[in-house]
Amino acid sequence: MGRLRRSRTHKAQRDVHRASRTRARTKDLDQIQLIDLLPTNRAALEAQPLDEEKPGLGQHYCVECARYFESDVALKVHWRGKLHKRRCKKLEEPAYTIEEAERAAGLGRDTRKARAVETPMEMAT
Ligand SMILES: [Zn+2]
Repeated sequence: MGRLRRSRTHKAQRDVHRASRTRARTKDLDQIQLIDLLPTNRAALEAQPLDEEKPGLGQHYCVECARYFESDVALKVHWRGKLHKRRCKKLEEPAYTIEEAERAAGLGRDTRKARAVETPMEMAT
């Protein structure tokens, strides 16, 4: 049973090191969620001008995954696939905002505390 651990740890995540390289970097989930999924931006991304440097001339783009595909067939197969569905599920969750990060670090504006400080002042005057 010694091999089980190694063979069942990564699931569909292949080649982690290559995925972390700068040139392979895709958009972050919050970028897609807050910018690309707006109806106007989405339409613009799906109807891009011909671009020779992009796969499939930039005509087959998946907005959720920020990926180009070679053909319409490849894009449709991708839409049915596990990676795309997983990505859509992640995009449904609310984006991680700066406010949330500051709240976690105790830096954000805490409305309750602010009010508690204000009231004694009002009572004194
Ligand atoms: Zn996709």
